[in-house]
Amino acid sequence: MSQNYTIGVIKGDGIGPEIVDEAIKVLDAVAAVEDINFTYKEMLLGGAAIDATGVPLPEETIQGVKQCDAVLFGAIGGPKWDTLERHLRPESGLLGLRKAMGTFANLRPATVYEELVNASTLKPEVVKGVDIMVVRELTGGIYFGQPREQHDDRAFNTMIYTREEVLRIAKVAFEIAMKRDKRLCSVDKANVLEVSQFWRDIVEEVAVGYPEVVLSHMYVDNAAMQLIRDPGQFDVMLTGNIFGDILSDAASMLSGSIGLLPSASTGEGVGLFEPIHGSAPDIAGQGIANPIATIASAAMMLRYALGETRAADRIESAIKRTLHEGYRTGDIGAYDAKEICTTDEMGGIIADYASQA
Ligand code: NAD
Repeated sequence: MSQNYTIGVIKGDGIGPEIVDEAIKVLDAVAAVEDINFTYKEMLLGGAAIDATGVPLPEETIQGVKQCDAVLFGAIGGPKWDTLERHLRPESGLLGLRKAMGTFANLRPATVYEELVNASTLKPEVVKGVDIMVVRELTGGIYFGQPREQHDDRAFNTMIYTREEVLRIAKVAFEIAMKRDKRLCSVDKANVLEVSQFWRDIVEEVAVGYPEVVLSHMYVDNAAMQLIRDPGQFDVMLTGNIFGDILSDAASMLSGSIGLLPSASTGEGVGLFEPIHGSAPDIAGQGIANPIATIASAAMMLRYALGETRAADRIESAIKRTLHEGYRTGDIGAYDAKEICTTDEMGGIIADYASQA
């Protein structure tokens, strides 16, 4: 009997619609061979929502995502909306959506594809075989802490974590470490920040329940350095919101292009699956964006939200085969390319390979 899923689709701004269309193309290709039915429910967020409704996160979207099995998202933002008041900007809509969905755990793999080992700005021998999972806390910390104020002569934000927030993200990280190489590095700034010492103490508490996982702690400044010096030392990295934001972007460069890496935001209910990059207004509408990060996000959605492991494997293998055969979008075009593809062509090739047995 075929499986039916309702997928929330938020295309967003800039290259968002172009890359999400390719991910849907690939999802449809695997659905046809795996006896899955997807019903897509499109919703507005960010600049597109501002233009249509006046707000970056319409109530309809908040309610709509709750009726889906998972949500696939492109990216939001662009210069057109940058002069709006902060709470009316596209980025506020995304932060609000993550909060409303209770997606407190952001999983960001940084994997170096064998074929693109030369695409990294680091030496091939440094990045070869790198396979890191950054587990970032997403709905707490300084991005959400109150009070926050800006005056003419001073401004401040508040970095705050509750016990419950640290416990639940630490558990997610330990569970993932158990399924991988059982090495977890928790990143903080406990030498300076009380909130970081609190974080570290709670991570130690959670570790007692996972004796097989080797836990280490690292200050965030050292972690930034180590990621570049010897990234192969990391398996799972656990971080708070702001540190994870920065470190996962740094980790993403190990792979050569920000256009390659997916992410999953999971938590209490429906999960949100999105590429790690933004809306890339500089290349929007040109048909040259790399859709792989979004297609790989769709694979994470199949794996983590829907339990469709075989379909996820199909997509991930198809991405590897496409790269192995030398198909490249412009951002990775300088590395062993046989053919430079448009966004649409790249999606088509991956869809084709994903549907083959
Ligand atoms: P960005 O990630 O959009 O772009 C950074 C650089 O990477 C650009 O040169 C861009 O062309 C390139 N790039 C990004 N994705 C690519 C892809 N798939 N293929 C090829 N090249 C790609 O970051 P930015 O320029 O700092 O931000 C642009 C807008 O996106 C801003 O409005 C920002 O607020 C927003 N943003 C949104 C999200 C999100 O929706 N999750 C995340 C980050 C930034």
